[in-house]
Amino acid sequence: MIMGEIMARVNCPNCGSKAIVLSTEKQSLQVTHWYSSCTNIKDCGASFVAIVGFSHYLNPPMATTAQIAAHYLKQLPREQQLELLQ
Ligand SMILES: [Zn+2]
Repeated sequence: MIMGEIMARVNCPNCGSKAIVLSTEKQSLQVTHWYSSCTNIKDCGASFVAIVGFSHYLNPPMATTAQIAAHYLKQLPREQQLELLQ
């Protein structure tokens, strides 16, 4: 996993300073915990866990689109199904 660009976007929840990600722990396919440390060592020095997770799709995965199409297709009479599939 390339962290470089993403690391710059993690800020300390206490002082707002840039934080570095020390390690990541995958909780599930959609949620990862980022063990982070504040770079403002002089005044803060907090370490914390940031949660990075999936929110929502902008485009559904291909399989989902096919499933939706199949679902509606099955509700049509046989003749109409065949018409659409031609
Ligand atoms: Zn801080």
